[in-house]
Order: sequence, then C-alpha cells, then structure tokens
Amino acid sequence: MKESTINNLLNFDKDHIWHPYTSMKEPLPVYLVESADGALLKLGSGEELIDGMSSWWCVIHGYNNPRLNQALRDQVDKMAHVMFGGITHIPAIELSKKLIRMTPIGLERVFFADSGSVSVEVAIKMALQYSISRGRVSRNKVATISGGYHGDTWHAMSVCDPVGGMHSLYNGRLPIQYFAPRPTVEFGAEWCDDDFSPMKKLIYEHHEELAAVIVEPIVQGAGGMWMYHPEYLKKLSALCTSYDILLIVDEIATGFGRTGKMFASEWSGVVPDIMCVGKAITGGYMSFAATLATAKVADVISSGDPSEIMHGPTFMANPLACAVANESLAMLEEASPLLRIKEIESIMRDELSKAEGCTNIKNIRVLGAIGVLETHSPVDMARCQEEFVKRGVWVRPFGRLIYIMPQYIITNDQLIKLCRALVAVANIDDVFKK
Ligand code: PMP
Repeated sequence: MKESTINNLLNFDKDHIWHPYTSMKEPLPVYLVESADGALLKLGSGEELIDGMSSWWCVIHGYNNPRLNQALRDQVDKMAHVMFGGITHIPAIELSKKLIRMTPIGLERVFFADSGSVSVEVAIKMALQYSISRGRVSRNKVATISGGYHGDTWHAMSVCDPVGGMHSLYNGRLPIQYFAPRPTVEFGAEWCDDDFSPMKKLIYEHHEELAAVIVEPIVQGAGGMWMYHPEYLKKLSALCTSYDILLIVDEIATGFGRTGKMFASEWSGVVPDIMCVGKAITGGYMSFAATLATAKVADVISSGDPSEIMHGPTFMANPLACAVANESLAMLEEASPLLRIKEIESIMRDELSKAEGCTNIKNIRVLGAIGVLETHSPVDMARCQEEFVKRGVWVRPFGRLIYIMPQYIITNDQLIKLCRALVAVANIDDVFKK
C-alpha cells in the first residue's frame, strides 16, 4: 500500500474511531493490518509481524486457517443466521455435544452468548436466579479475588479488580461485591494453607449473602497475568460446596488448552457449578461464548418462578459462530494440542529465562502457552510497541507486564524470535515510564 494511502486511513481512524480503552484525544498509535496468515500479521506497509498475542488469547489455530475458512463457507451457503427463539439447528446441537464432552464432567446445560462479558453476565444471572428459586433472597452478592478481570459489562465489571478495574470510575454505581486478596502462592511453589485463610474468612462471614464465587481458574489474565496454586481453587470449591454457594469459573481466557490442560480447572480437579468459555472457542474467528451449568443448577432455576432464564440475545447460537466453533474444537480434539503447548512452554521457559538478571525485570513466569515478564516500572506502551514492530513481532504490553500467549501453530523459529524480542525490549530502559 502507498504510504499516503496508509496515512489517510490512519488519520481518519484517529479522528473518528474509538479503540479499546483509549481516548479520542491523543490516542495511542495504531498499526494498519491488511491481512493475516498463520502466525503472521501483514501490515499495509508490507512488513510482517510474528503474532505474540493470538489477538487476545483467541486465535489458536492461526489466521486464515483453511479448515476454519471452509467451515464458514459451508455454513454461509446453508444459513448465516436464524433466531434461536423457537428454532434450533444442527451447528448449535453439535457444538453443545462437543462442549459437554470436552469440559469437566457434570457441566451438561449450555447457554450460548455473544461475547465473553455476556457469558459472565449470564453466569451471574444464573447464580442470582438459583438463589431466588430456592427462596434464599438474601443471597444476592458475588465474591471473588482481587486482581481479576471478567469483562466490561456491568456485573462483569463489578467483579473485576477493585483497584485496577473501573470501580473508581463508577464508584457508587456498580453493584457492591466482596473481594478476598489475590492468592500469593504462585503456581509451582510450595502450597501454604494460610494463602486460603482470607477467602475462608470472607465466606464464613458472608455466606448468608453470597449467591456465588467467581474466579479465573489458575491464571488471572488481564488483571495481572498472575498464576496461582491449584490447591487454592481446590479449597475454594470444597468450601463453596459446604456452604452451598455456587462456584463460577471464568475459563474465557484459560480454556481450550492455554494453560497446558484443556481447562485450567483441571489443574485442581474441580468441577464448577457454572463455567464460562469464549475467545478460542471459535479459533478467534468471531465473538462468541457459552455459559455451561450443571444439571442441578439448571433444574433449580427451572423449578423456580419464573422458571425461564432471563436472557436471550438476538444473535444467540448464531449458526456461523457455531459452525466455526465446531471446526475449531474438532481440531483441538484431533490434534492433541496439549503436547504442542508443552513444547511451547519449554521453549518460552528457556528463552524468557534469559531475562533473568535484567534490572527492569521483577519476575518471569511461564505456564502452558503463556509467558510473562513482570517489570518494575510500567511500560510506555507506544514506545514499547515501536520497538517490537522494529523487531518484526506483535506484542501489546500493559502496566508492568510484557507478555505473550502465542498461537498453538507458531513454529519454533517464530517463537524463539518472539521471545528474544521480548528479552531485548525489556532491556531497553526508555520503554518504561519513569
Ligand atoms: N473474562 C476473561 C477472563 C477475559 O479475559 C475476558 C476478555 N479479555 C472476558 C471475560 C470478556 O470477554 P469479551 O471481551 O469477549 O467480552
């Protein structure tokens, strides 16, 4: 593309289009991507960047994947969309069967949502309605752990980190929920029972008010890329059961292999009452998610008054999304991605450990296909990205986190180049804010 064409497009974009979490005044720079293939993003200028972000966790099988493309083509010739009220279709039925088969045993009732945030809203509605149906109306709050992120819609925001999230902006307006401190025992470290004490105390003191506890299992993503000990989740599940509080796990980022298990809850051997899945479900082709519940949760809600679940978006179970998700999950079931994720983990461990001793780095952590360099100072995102693009990679750090979650199809050479760029950029002092 000609430089003048690119500049015209970027100028229009800057003047008229909001990007995620940006201001319309002095927005951060954006790069024009013209196409993408496999693990490569192709810029309008002709440069190719190795993708380190999987477009925020979801493009696990690569861009422009022939099988996913074909699944969409086949479906679009049959039916792109049809309402789900009073109608059903094979893509939704097939996808439900796959989700029930792949998720921990016991999650057997499926609600299709149009985004991760919406699936969290639905999960919370389910939990509140479960309490109402059982006549326990005082149980109308949700507990969680600090440092979490569950999306940008209203109830999802109410359980995001109370400091780093948007609580201060919407102070006094968001529903008040209960927060325990973030678990401190890291994944792989020696477990210490004290780590669970604050959550234990919180549940003991407030169980009469709690409909549910919601957590991101094992890895807290956008709220801090923190990886905690599986014993925490195990204890949480047992305590929730003993107080008859529903456990909601948000597997939107961690699901479909990302942490080295098909679902991160499996690290703890936990079967939640409600599970949210999204992002990689469609291989990153389109916005789609699902909320799965146990038969018990569904039965209680459906025995209440009203007995209906009060949610039903226009694009619920969109056939195109279901078709591409069916193909994405079929690829996961056929290809043992967990072996590939182990290889990715091992390469990232070797390569990122080269940042040890770098004065800008506070902590290095790797789990499954997630690699994190935690820094002492916050990054200057625009400066940092400039350096990454110069090195032919696409990484979008935030706060004190430079991190990657590569696609499962990335080649070893591409992955090594990506990790080396991370280490190189982490060594440049002026990519950090003073
Ligand atoms: N939960 C988690 C754990 C997430 O990482 C995200 C997205 N980053 C969401 C919920 C919200 O999903 P969506 O952006 O599809 O609404």
